[in-house]
Amino acid sequence: MLAPPVNRLITELARLPGVGQRTAQRLAFHLLRAPESEAFGLADAIREVRETVGQCEVCFNLATEARCRICQDERRDGELICVVEEPSDVIPIERTNEFGGRYHVLGGALSPIDGIDAEDLHITELIERAASNGVREVVVATNATTTGEATALYLADALRERAPAVTVTRLASGLPAGSDLEYADEITLGSAFRGRRAL
Ligand SMILES: [Zn+2]
Repeated sequence: MLAPPVNRLITELARLPGVGQRTAQRLAFHLLRAPESEAFGLADAIREVRETVGQCEVCFNLATEARCRICQDERRDGELICVVEEPSDVIPIERTNEFGGRYHVLGGALSPIDGIDAEDLHITELIERAASNGVREVVVATNATTTGEATALYLADALRERAPAVTVTRLASGLPAGSDLEYADEITLGSAFRGRRAL
C-alpha cells in the first residue's frame, strides 16, 4: 500500500524503544509533512551523534574526546566513584547536585539469563581504577531491579577482595523497588545519595 521508502522508515522507527507500529506510522507521516529542514535536521543529528560521540577511555560515559567532560573536570573528586549501568543514568544523578565525584559506566547489569556476564561489562576496569588511584569510596548506583541488585552484590564482593581499602556503598532506600534510576525524581534520588549505606 505504501511506497517502499515509507515502509522502510516505518520499520526503522518501530525498532526504537517504546515506539510501536502505530506510533511509527504517525511519526513517518509527520516527517513526510514536516518542513525539509526539520526532517533533514533529525537525520543529520542522528548521523552526527553516531559519528562524533564515543566512550570515555576512563569511565565509559559518553564523550566527544578521549575523556568525557566529567573526567576532564579538575574540580571533581577523583577519590569518589559512582557506578551506574548506563550513560543515561549520569544525568539524573548530576541533577541532584549531591555528587561531586566521578563516574564509572558499566554498560549494563549482570543477567546470566540474557547471557550478560561480568566480562561483558566494564567491571575489570572499575576494579583497576578502584585499586590503583587512591579511591576512597565507590557508590554503587545500579538500578533497584533484580539485575541491578545482583550486580551491586557482585561488585561489593569483587571490590572487597581486590580493593580492600575502598569503602563500597549503595544508594539508600527511597528508590522504588524494581525501578530504573532514569525515572527517579531528583528529590528521591538526592535523599538516596545522602543516605547511602555500606555494602
Ligand atoms: Zn569519563
